[in-house]
Amino acid sequence: MIKVAIVGAAGRMGQALARCTKLMPQLQLVAAVEAASSPLCGKDIGLIAGIGENGILITSDIVAAVKAADVLIDFSFHENVPVTLKQAVEHKKAVVIGTTGLNPEERDVVDQAAKVIPIVSAPNMSLGVNLLFALVEQAGKALGLDYDVEITEAHHRFKKDAPSGTALRLGEKVAHGRKQNFRDVAIYGREGLGSERPRGQIGIHALRAADIIGDHTVLFATEGERVEISHRATSRDAFAKGALHAGSWLVTQKPGLYDMQDVLGLR
Ligand code: NAD
Repeated sequence: MIKVAIVGAAGRMGQALARCTKLMPQLQLVAAVEAASSPLCGKDIGLIAGIGENGILITSDIVAAVKAADVLIDFSFHENVPVTLKQAVEHKKAVVIGTTGLNPEERDVVDQAAKVIPIVSAPNMSLGVNLLFALVEQAGKALGLDYDVEITEAHHRFKKDAPSGTALRLGEKVAHGRKQNFRDVAIYGREGLGSERPRGQIGIHALRAADIIGDHTVLFATEGERVEISHRATSRDAFAKGALHAGSWLVTQKPGLYDMQDVLGLR
């Protein structure tokens, strides 16, 4: 049995992870970690996630959780990721990072930790989106700079970061396929005069509304035709199952930084 601790356990993804852990016989949920300020600390995670009481109380004690687990699955807040990693490194435990919106310093902490422990970090853990990453890179390579690329993403109104980590990764994949440096060609929304589109630009646009779980579309357009490649998540279980699959895979890996392309053998 692989022992799993969820960090950010009472959140939307944390609850989906608790539900999906129950569906995977090789996994055992051993800890549910939350922010010390969470009013749900002390409550049973099974009851909160709607799967019935399971005796695992939500706690802010990350040290006890790390000690009890083989793998930590972090879907919390970007500022908390270095805290999770510090404990995981100290106790040599694997970590799956689903949390997005990490700044360059936090990403640096991830890179340093990956020298000591195995880490999977991916802005989107669903199989479908990871297939999309491969497809848009291929489309970028095949269609080249004659096709304008615009990426749109839509998420629920509570999402803290914009654009989504997935939209950024899609942009990087297209740019890589077209032999461009994504940072040099990306534009985030447009407003006002002088917004004509230069050749090779990649536009990224974030929509926020209601309860949308996560939609992404990459548009390739030239005079006379358009190709649109889309993914729509209809349940958070798609991400949760992917993250738990990554956790099962990760416990037998050497220290290093992996992504879902590695986990799914798509590389
Ligand atoms: P959410 O706000 O519903 O949940 C986050 C939870 O983390 C909250 O319950 C919050 O109290 C908790 N938290 C905050 N600080 C903490 C700390 N110091 N220690 C422990 N817990 C802490 O958000 P969500 O929709 O569940 O998303 C969480 C993260 O996962 C976001 O960064 C989101 O973008 C990302 N996400 C990634 C994927 C993916 O496939 N990689 C999919 C969906 C969401």
